[in-house]
Amino acid sequence: MMQELWDRASDTLRGRVGSNNHTAWIAPLALTGVEAGEARIATPTRFISDWVQRHYAEAIREALHDAGAAVTRISFNVAAAPRRAPARRNAAEPVRPAENDMSAPLDARFTFDNFVVGKPNELAHAAARRVAEGGPVTFNPLFLYGGVGLGKTHLMHAIASEISTRRPESRVLYLSAEQFMYRFVQALRERTVMDFKEMFRTVEVLMVDDVQFIAGKESTQEEFFHTFNALVDQGKQIVISADRAPGEIKDLEDRIKSRLQCGLVVDLHPTDYELRLGILQSKTDAFRAQYAGLCIEPGVLEFLAHRITSNVRVLEGALQRLFAFASLVGRKIDMELTQDCLADILRASDRKLSIEDIQRKVAEHYNIKLADLVGQKRVRTIARPRQVAMYLAKQMTTRSLPEIGRRFGGRDHTTIMHGVRKIEELCAEDHGMAEDVQLLRRSLEA
Ligand code: ADP
Ligand code: MG
Repeated sequence: MMQELWDRASDTLRGRVGSNNHTAWIAPLALTGVEAGEARIATPTRFISDWVQRHYAEAIREALHDAGAAVTRISFNVAAAPRRAPARRNAAEPVRPAENDMSAPLDARFTFDNFVVGKPNELAHAAARRVAEGGPVTFNPLFLYGGVGLGKTHLMHAIASEISTRRPESRVLYLSAEQFMYRFVQALRERTVMDFKEMFRTVEVLMVDDVQFIAGKESTQEEFFHTFNALVDQGKQIVISADRAPGEIKDLEDRIKSRLQCGLVVDLHPTDYELRLGILQSKTDAFRAQYAGLCIEPGVLEFLAHRITSNVRVLEGALQRLFAFASLVGRKIDMELTQDCLADILRASDRKLSIEDIQRKVAEHYNIKLADLVGQKRVRTIARPRQVAMYLAKQMTTRSLPEIGRRFGGRDHTTIMHGVRKIEELCAEDHGMAEDVQLLRRSLEA
């Protein structure tokens, strides 16, 4: 009786929500009872439950009503919906073959050979190398984090391809957290969750990129957590990346955070001038081969490394455009061409950060007044943040010391220099200070 009622409603719903939505969201449901105007619906997961409640509750109520049940309310509860005859498939919908390989394709350019190592990324690079070499699993997981375009995905791909070359028989599964979720939802929909679990639990190395994506996605987190634990228990290596440290990912369950912190957590710091120059030189060598005969004047790369500080992706794009443009117009790459061709990027990175932006952010961070920050007070609680702001102004803008001095209430350039040195020293010996500066830098770059 309940089954018949639900079958009729379900058929109506197929017409109303479309067959793809029906397969995804309606087919996994079961009607477990109707009482006093309330229909009770069982859903296999919280995720599906939330989704259906938000998107289809009214449609379901109407369909039940049309099928002859006087329903005014619907309650959802998460319980394995009873398995029944396989959901009827729309003939137009192809049946997906069982997937054996879920790994996302690797970018052939993202190798260790093509990765330029500098101070900001040397630790991450060393850890990635170690994992790629295999041997006993020493840290699990390896957690790489850092801002956009700093090389996380590059390193992940490098690890994956290195392992595949060294040990072709070992199964490496690399995918983004978004793909993980997509596969998982698909498995729920197609009732192949057991295959999904099996698939993930039989790999040697699991690599999940941009894990911050699953924050707030409950059932995906749940599944990820179990997969993670199962693999760690078996001594399999896990590599994770994210745009921030585990503890800073909002809406990520605490037990997952603490699991992620168990291994080695390393961050990719924002690039410094030397690293940017190194990357530009290495990419230039590659471009030279591609654009034979193009000449690049001395000073251009230095200029770019100085001016484009946002991230490596932008830097790369700038160089690429420069080469393409120069070869198109048949000119050598000099400062004039660079200024012309990259006007928009240069302007954007100019606009990016002013000394005032830095001062405002620092004042806010330390909870002091902007006027005090640039004023004359000498108490430590104000003088120290002031030096931090000086340091960041020197590091993150192209302004000279005298210029910075002027913006700090007309101070002398030697005062600025002293402030910069002081913070450098403190960062080296005081972990808290180093972290503060790092945090500020990150949020200014965002
Ligand atoms: P993320 O995943 O951290 O956002 P990516 O790994 O996608 O960043 O890097 C963005 C681009 O910058 C890629 O083309 C990558 O090859 C390049 N890149 C980043 N860091 C380096 C590096 N140290 N050496 C060479 N290329 C780099
Ligand atoms: Mg990435």
